[in-house]
Amino acid sequence: MDAQRRTYLVLLGVPGAGKGTQARMLEETFHLPQISTGDIFRYNLKNQTELGLLAKSYMDRGDLVPDEVTIRMVEDRLQKADAVNGVILDGFPRNLVQASALDEMTADYGGITSAPLISLSDEDAILRITGRRVCRTCGAVYHVEFNPPKKSGVCDIDGGELYQRDDDKPETVRNRLYVYYKQTSPLIGYYFAKSLLTELDGAEPIDVVNEKLKQLVSQAISKKTN
Ligand code: ADP
Ligand code: AMP
Ligand code: ZN
Repeated sequence: MDAQRRTYLVLLGVPGAGKGTQARMLEETFHLPQISTGDIFRYNLKNQTELGLLAKSYMDRGDLVPDEVTIRMVEDRLQKADAVNGVILDGFPRNLVQASALDEMTADYGGITSAPLISLSDEDAILRITGRRVCRTCGAVYHVEFNPPKKSGVCDIDGGELYQRDDDKPETVRNRLYVYYKQTSPLIGYYFAKSLLTELDGAEPIDVVNEKLKQLVSQAISKKTN
């Protein structure tokens, strides 16, 4: 295997499609870290950093944080030691400018390995998002109905408190879907043209989606390394 080649997975799909849920499962299977730009912004917000405060107004509205800031943040993250074999990207890129920046960042390592699209209707996405609950401590994602914790309001993994994200309220969700269709959905064509896109039915149960995703990622990895 060419030592320079790394695995870069780009998970695509409407907000609520299940990208974060699947990325966390793939982390264990492929021993690659998940990079969620939304999680990094929320971490910065919690710690009141300059980046967090800048991102807040955009996140509150459901708009994208400016590219310059987001791209620099991902560039830094990709240089961390745990990213030497590659990463699983969840929530980045979110427009064509970010996608082409990512191509440049990964060019020396063989580029993007695969861009699975987890498809889901808007109606289902809204049900998913409004019922989503997140652990304050470890970021694990639950759903009050579709993926409930053993004890209501408490994380199974570490007993952390589960909360509802501010931007998961119905008023913001509508704009997030609008932003997705306007700015992020062109990436479907972008990756299709590069023969990197594979669509999966995101309406299936978490484990079923995961099995299919594992299979397609394994195939993409062996295609890239051969
Ligand atoms: P995204 O990262 O794409 O915004 P999440 O992974 O946070 O989506 O999932 C959104 C919500 O839907 C969460 O509450 C999660 O528990 C739930 N969920 C994820 N995948 C499925 C699935 N296949 N079936 C039912 N609920 C799901
Ligand atoms: P997410 O956790 O992916 O649902 O993202 C939550 C919010 O973080 C988004 O609505 C944006 O405001 C911001 N965000 C996350 N990823 C990006 C990105 N790649 N570019 C710009 N803004 C982002
Ligand atoms: Zn937890």
